[in-house]
Amino acid sequence: SWGSLSDKNVYDWSSEEEEPDGRARPIQVLLVKDDHTFELDETALSRILLSEEVRDREVVAISVAGAFRKGKSFLMDFMLRYMYNHASENWLGNPEEPLTGFSWRGGSERETTGIQIWSEVFLVDKPDGRKVAVLLMDTQGTFDSQSTLRDSATVFALSTMIILKITCYNIVTLFQLFTEYGRLAMEETFLKPFQSMIFLVRDWSFPYEFPYGQEGGMKFLEKRLKISENQHEELQNVRKHIHSCFTNISCFLMPHPGLKVATNPHFDGRIKEIDGEFINNLTVLVPWLLSPRNIDVKEINGSKITCRGLLEYFKAYIKIYQG
Ligand code: GDP
Ligand code: MG
Repeated sequence: SWGSLSDKNVYDWSSEEEEPDGRARPIQVLLVKDDHTFELDETALSRILLSEEVRDREVVAISVAGAFRKGKSFLMDFMLRYMYNHASENWLGNPEEPLTGFSWRGGSERETTGIQIWSEVFLVDKPDGRKVAVLLMDTQGTFDSQSTLRDSATVFALSTMIILKITCYNIVTLFQLFTEYGRLAMEETFLKPFQSMIFLVRDWSFPYEFPYGQEGGMKFLEKRLKISENQHEELQNVRKHIHSCFTNISCFLMPHPGLKVATNPHFDGRIKEIDGEFINNLTVLVPWLLSPRNIDVKEINGSKITCRGLLEYFKAYIKIYQG
């Protein structure tokens, strides 16, 4: 069912609570604890993935991974708005409506590391008549020390292993992450590449060199991912690893959203206060990621994954990382 996100404030509900009024909200399904162990909330995950309408549907999971306070949740909330507005022309809706969904905020204090998923799984009708389930996942990672880098790398590995489309902020942190992640992933031959990776570069400020959007992004990425002889070996390995992990790599250059978004503590996400150039590119980016014709279910080990299967993958991967 298509609800509406307007007049909802879903920020304050803790994941342990029952949904007070049946409204959709973020559910913390994976938590990295202070002692760096992982906790998977299997009950919560099962409740979402095994609900009758979705459990046997093929699923596409969308995740945004990347460093802390980079606007991942902010972007996810625009994806939610697109889904709730049924991918319509005017999906951005009222320019004065605050942005709600996954919690996003300014400030620099630490937050939890883990994975939240949106409690409502969307059913999308593909142009070819198939119905596909779409799951939105928000990852939370920190990169403030070696130990949390490892946690973040694990969360990243987990989300990308089960995710079919992923968006990533900040190439530099990403290389750092891949170095760690590469080490983790190579320990496990069980982990197979099967998804697409989209590097999303935010606050791109050289549109005269590489224009905003996907084409500029691809040119930029080609330049950055080119493997050359005189590079440091570790960097070369990371680049090779990125290529071997993802069947499909692309890149999108996003402009800066404007000072209100970046610095005003009272900014509530309304479009009216976001730079026009950012919004223009958002209206390209989000449908490119999520439109019914672009949503595609990839195969894992030769078969398409359903919500029920996704739950099993989650459990299996967690077992690996728990060691
Ligand atoms: P997350 O930790 O990556 O999930 O980041 P949030 O979504 O919570 O956003 C953190 C802060 O970044 C908020 O104050 C947003 O207003 C701001 N923000 C969101 N998108 C962007 C962006 O593209 N560029 C900049 N500079 N700030 C952004
Ligand atoms: Mg966040």
